[in-house]
Amino acid sequence: MAETLKQKRARARKIIPILQQTYPDAKCSLRFGNALELLVATILSAQCTDVRVNKITEQLFREYVSAADYARAELAELEERVRSAGFYKHKAKNIKHCCEKLVAQFQGRVPATLKELTLLDGVGRKTANVVLGNAFGVPSMVVDTHVGRISQRLGLTTESDPVKIEFALMELIPREHWVQYSHELICLGRDICKARRPQHRLCPLRSLCPTGSAELKKAPAGD
Ligand code: SF4
Repeated sequence: MAETLKQKRARARKIIPILQQTYPDAKCSLRFGNALELLVATILSAQCTDVRVNKITEQLFREYVSAADYARAELAELEERVRSAGFYKHKAKNIKHCCEKLVAQFQGRVPATLKELTLLDGVGRKTANVVLGNAFGVPSMVVDTHVGRISQRLGLTTESDPVKIEFALMELIPREHWVQYSHELICLGRDICKARRPQHRLCPLRSLCPTGSAELKKAPAGD
């Protein structure tokens, strides 16, 4: 029989303390000192590892401190600074235009609402949610590739569109856990529930996960 919303919510609530115990130190792995730095780092992080972004921003944040610094930068110079992030022309242009808008419309400050953040160039819901949750402490659900994949495997959603997954998860996970839930699933996705060859047997969520349970039944001797 199909799981009801109430049952799914109850199962999601059992998942939360297990994730908390497994990854008590889960947090944003992008380095930043303020909302602007996190915004720039998150724009750079598309299709790029956080380790590489942190390497780039170590130097970048010494040279570009305010939104006005990015807004008046020569585009070619900014491109050079972020070249190793991949898609550097696109990312440099987004950062520059985003900061021009911050200067023109927000007195150079990063706004703290989803509506305003998503008006900025290069800022979709995911980037906005990263900034809201980690720089401003506003409950927000970040759906990246790990969060989407694992939430599907856990049977918490059948959606594949990240925005639909975000809304489905917000229905199931209490608001105060949204930010940590994303960080913890990202850790699980990097460690155990990888895109290829998820390690069901090692997974702390296996008894609550329909995918893991089914796979372990099929192959009781190994993952
Ligand atoms: S049991 Fe398997 S599929 Fe389910 S969350 Fe764990 S590793 Fe992923």
